[in-house]
Order: sequence, then C-alpha cells, then structure tokens
Amino acid sequence: MGNTGWKTMIRVLTEASALPKDLKMPEGVVYLDNHSTTRVDPRVVDTVAPFLTEMYGNAGSVSHAFGWEARDAVEKATAAVAAAVGAKPKEIVFTSGATESNNLAIRGIVESPRRKGNHLLSVATEHRAVLDPLRRLARHGCELTLLTPAPAGRSDAGRLDLQQVAEALRDDTVLVSVMLANNEIGAIHPIAEIAAVCRAHGVPLHCDATQGVGRIPVDVEALGVDLMSFSGHKIYGPRGMGLLYVRRRSPPLRIEPQMTGGGQQHGLRSGTLNVPGIVGLAKALELCREELLHEMPRLAALRQQLWTGLREKLDGLTLNGPQLDRTDWRLPGNLNVAFDGVDGEALMLSMPGLAVSSGSACSAAEPEPSHVLRALGMADDVVRSSLRFGLGRFTTESEILFAIEVIAEAVTRLRGLSSMGFPAQVERST
Ligand code: PMP
Repeated sequence: MGNTGWKTMIRVLTEASALPKDLKMPEGVVYLDNHSTTRVDPRVVDTVAPFLTEMYGNAGSVSHAFGWEARDAVEKATAAVAAAVGAKPKEIVFTSGATESNNLAIRGIVESPRRKGNHLLSVATEHRAVLDPLRRLARHGCELTLLTPAPAGRSDAGRLDLQQVAEALRDDTVLVSVMLANNEIGAIHPIAEIAAVCRAHGVPLHCDATQGVGRIPVDVEALGVDLMSFSGHKIYGPRGMGLLYVRRRSPPLRIEPQMTGGGQQHGLRSGTLNVPGIVGLAKALELCREELLHEMPRLAALRQQLWTGLREKLDGLTLNGPQLDRTDWRLPGNLNVAFDGVDGEALMLSMPGLAVSSGSACSAAEPEPSHVLRALGMADDVVRSSLRFGLGRFTTESEILFAIEVIAEAVTRLRGLSSMGFPAQVERST
C-alpha cells in the first residue's frame, strides 16, 4: 500500500473508534517513538544535501580539490563534535552507529595486548549492542558480571548504585560498561561517580551514551568516562552514523581496531569516511546543544501532561522506571507504563494513529518480553502490558492531547473485551 493509502486507512480506523467527536485529529501518525529513532531535522538535511550532490570528494584524496574540500569539511565537523562533548578532535572515531562503537570499545579493550585480566563488568539493563558483544567474549574465555539495578516499585527503579560497582570490581577487571541513560525506562545512571570508582581501581569505563547525548548535557570530562558511544539517528541526525570517544589523555587508552584496511582515523577504524554523515552528525549535535536547555523542560512538561492525562482517564496504571520529577534520574521525554490487564502488543495494534513501542526496536525481531523490565523483577504479564513513549523535538501539545484520548479509548475497549471473555493476549508463535 502506498504512503497515502495507509495514512487514509489509519485516519478512517482512528475516526471510526469511540474518540470524542471534537478531538483535533493530527495530519498523519503521531510519532512517540523517539528512543527508536528521530526524524532528521530539516536543518541537518540542508547541511548534508551538498555533500550528497556536488561535494562528493573522498576525504582521503590528497591530489585534487574535491578531496581537499571533503577533508576540510571532516576536520571542521570533527572539531565541532569534539568540542560539543568536551573531547579533543584526535579522540573522536566515526563509526556506522552506536552498535559498531560499542563493539569497537568492548572488543577493542579486550583484544588489546596490554590487557591484564579477563573480568568484564556491566549491567543487566544495557542495550543488546553492549550485552551481545560482552556475552560473546564470555563464551570465549572472559568472565562477565552483570549487575542488577534498583528493582521496580522503588522511586529509583532501574538506576545503579555506585556501591554495587565498587563491590563488584576485581583485580582482574579489564572493563566496566555502563550506559548513561536507558532506552526503555529512561533511567540515568550516576556515571561521574561510577567513573571515579573505576579510575581509582585503574579500570577503564565505557559508557553507551546513545540515549543521553542530545537529551541531557554530556561532557566526557565532567563524566570522567574513558570510552563513550553514541549515534546520529537518536539526535535528529543521519542514520548509519555513530561515534566513539576514546580517551587519549592522562593516560591514553589503547584499543585494538576491529575494522582494518586503509588505516583511516589513526588506524582505529579503516574505511572511506562518510562525509555527509559526519557533517550531518556535527550539525545535529550543534542543534541539540543550542536547544537543550529549552528542550528539556518542554519535554518534561509534555511527558507530565501525558502521564497526568492518562491517570485522569484510566485506573490500573503503573509507572515503570524512576520517578518523573528527578531530572537527574530520568530522561525528560521518556515514559514507560504498564496497563493493568491489557496486552501491550494488542494495545499498539488498536492504536494505528500512534507510533509507540513495547521496548527496543533493535530486539523487535525477538518475541521475548523486555529484558530491561524483567531485570527490574517485573512479572512477565506486567512486562507484556507495558508500552514505552518517547517524546522528541517535534512532539507538540496537541499530539499529546490526542495520544491521551486514543490510549484511554483503546485501553478501555480492550479491557471491556477481555471482561466479555475475549482473549486479552495476542497469539504468539513462540
Ligand atoms: N545503545 C542504545 C542505548 C540504543 O538505544 C541503541 C539504539 N536503539 C543502540 C545502542 C544502537 O544504536 P545504533 O542503532 O546506532 O547502532
């Protein structure tokens, strides 16, 4: 079905449901899935466009103006990106996304000839782009400890206590990996404190900051991290573009490259540089920095409006993750809610006008319930009744008002059906 086709179908379905007749219908589908990816900011598109058309030189070509132009653009973008996160240009490695950055950081440390142990320390609620490389190393001789953060029901649910890290560090620990902010429940870990403990033990700290960068202030010096990953497509920039910060100061960190070839980027990541992606990432980061202080309270207020609006219309709701009013504990645009007695998949299918998700899009191929919510000790049926909402730069108040009505109507309808004996769960093949 063409683009116009499905939009019309969604409109007809949404209008046919029992929504208030005076409700202002938005143009297309309301996008509340900004933890999965974000719409590219039109200002980023404008900046990138010439590098996809007339400025197509290879930054590695030293013999002509096309190459010089591309190299100049990369140097400027690298300096801007580094300054935006408090790093030096030589500490920046461009990659294809946070998944690659995480793999380069983790495997790069473990495969380094200087490594003096086999123990890896991380958290059970990390993204799979951290857990999978760690588990793979564990299958090849490393020992892995995964810490469990504060359980569901506590006001700091999902947050790690720095004492847990201090107690789990060992003489043979070679790497600690803790994310800055969680992609499902928005929990922000106390990275600066964890980094101080790691430094005191002489163990490098890798931080997957994919959900933090652009949403809260991030500075590698203030955080004290040694390696930090993030991605272009979570900050209104291009997809397929990521970055790894590798500390080169006091003392410089050595990692083993994973991609070898032409020796680009100080030999740490070979491959022709993605000039449009790099320029786009720099622009996206610049815009985030400009808008952050205005954006954070705006998103926190919209998120509060969504949560208050839902609770006014529905009972049986549970907030998953840390309390909402601690800006240092939870990302401003994140809400994760368990809808008592309702299957999350069925709920999403009942709301074609809303784009939300039940967890990480990266694990969407896997029917397993969220490993993040499970790690907080939540029962499988509560995990399956949970939805994640991710508000972003382009979310408006009228979209939130629309979302409240749509969700309330769908939850009431589904609860009504299950009370009439219709199955509350979606059939699953596995
Ligand atoms: N880490 C986190 C916390 C994420 O949210 C994501 C994307 N969902 C990734 C890593 C993977 O990023 P990318 O898609 O850029 O590979």
